[in-house]
Amino acid sequence: MSQVVTRFAPSPTGYLHIGGARTALFNWAFAQNQGGKMLLRIEDTDRERSTEAAVTALIDGLKWLGLEWDGEPISQFGRAARHAEVAHELVKIGHAYYCYCSPQELDQMREEARAAGKPPRYNGFWRDRDPSEAPEGVSPVIRIKAPLSGEIVVKDHVQGDVVFKTENLDDFIILRSDGTPTYMHAVVVDDHDMGVTHIIRGDDHLTNAARQIVIYNAMGWTVPEMAHIPLIHGPDGAKLSKRHGALGVEAYRQMGYLPEALRNYLARLGWSHGDEEIFSTDQLVEWFSLEALNKGAARFDFVKLENINGHY
Ligand code: GLU
Repeated sequence: MSQVVTRFAPSPTGYLHIGGARTALFNWAFAQNQGGKMLLRIEDTDRERSTEAAVTALIDGLKWLGLEWDGEPISQFGRAARHAEVAHELVKIGHAYYCYCSPQELDQMREEARAAGKPPRYNGFWRDRDPSEAPEGVSPVIRIKAPLSGEIVVKDHVQGDVVFKTENLDDFIILRSDGTPTYMHAVVVDDHDMGVTHIIRGDDHLTNAARQIVIYNAMGWTVPEMAHIPLIHGPDGAKLSKRHGALGVEAYRQMGYLPEALRNYLARLGWSHGDEEIFSTDQLVEWFSLEALNKGAARFDFVKLENINGHY
């Protein structure tokens, strides 16, 4: 089998938060366990929300936590030309097409779908139309041809086989009219080009996985193994936020937490090894497996974290 390659792919829009740090830890531990590599990709294609300060905070947070990646961090924005190249390649091989619909036409399409009791989505207007009919002076987007029938199965190490009916996936956009890629497309091209073998990320990306598999299949690329981990919740059961006292990794560092204690606590937010409460990072690496990732949402509990810190 080829060498395991994982990646941590944060969007640099704020500090390294507990959820992101846990995702990084699992990618790191799995790569270490398998004698593989973890790569770092900064998903900075959203130019309005990405900041240099956030990139620095992410890198500092990972370093302090001891989660070193292999090679140089990769900027997703820096790969825009390659994303466009693949989108145009997909048009050439007949798996994608130019769409010239105006915002008004798209609104009308959605209205009509709603009126017919269907989900409001793109109806494939330009899918089989001759581009010579294109209106003048309009820059098109590129849409992928989603399969019209059948199923996409996400074979997931945590969630099992998750089946999506393709009729629920529309011909989504892969390249915007200004030539920039959508998140969906950039992630697939990057993961493929970086040789990623295992994608470990939050389960808020599970439905994206189905769409991403459409792109892999269209390019004839191997779909990486996937593990979508349940998100972290606060003690009240709602999705974890600052309101629950969950802070950025930097804040724990300033409060005097030890990186090893935080690693231990983060690992236990979604992974377990029997009844072991406290384990060393070497043991985490030795024992780590994707199958042992928990299927239920983890609960963030500040008191437990404080108890663990006392043990180091
Ligand atoms: N950039 C995405 C995020 O921060 C992750 C994308 C991925 O892991 O595929 O949520």
